[in-house]
Amino acid sequence: MSEQNLSRRSVLKGAFLSLAAIPVVSLSTTAHAAPATALVDPATDPLAKGLGYVANGAAVKDPAHKAGANCANCALYQGKAKDKQGPCAIFGGRPVLAAGWCKSWVKKA
Ligand code: SF4
Repeated sequence: MSEQNLSRRSVLKGAFLSLAAIPVVSLSTTAHAAPATALVDPATDPLAKGLGYVANGAAVKDPAHKAGANCANCALYQGKAKDKQGPCAIFGGRPVLAAGWCKSWVKKA
């Protein structure tokens, strides 16, 4: 399998997971409406808990975590390379830490 196919598969997987998270995002924003600019809090945000979001991807013990994976190198992260935090598509554009990580991580192309 070529690297391009793997990359396409990764992007499709991320898109699928994003779509799957929309109902959860809708519920979570209805139940406890965090401001759109509020940093995602892994301790209190229901979606963050469901996705296993952590502030420090380097300390993750989850078997789904790949070495070196963090929000800054995730396809769903919308911050700039040197930003310490940036918007995440999974969280409806709310900011996550560049060093963070969750189970929806998809390698940035
Ligand atoms: S790894 Fe980070 S940027 Fe990627 S989907 Fe999860 S929280 Fe968002």
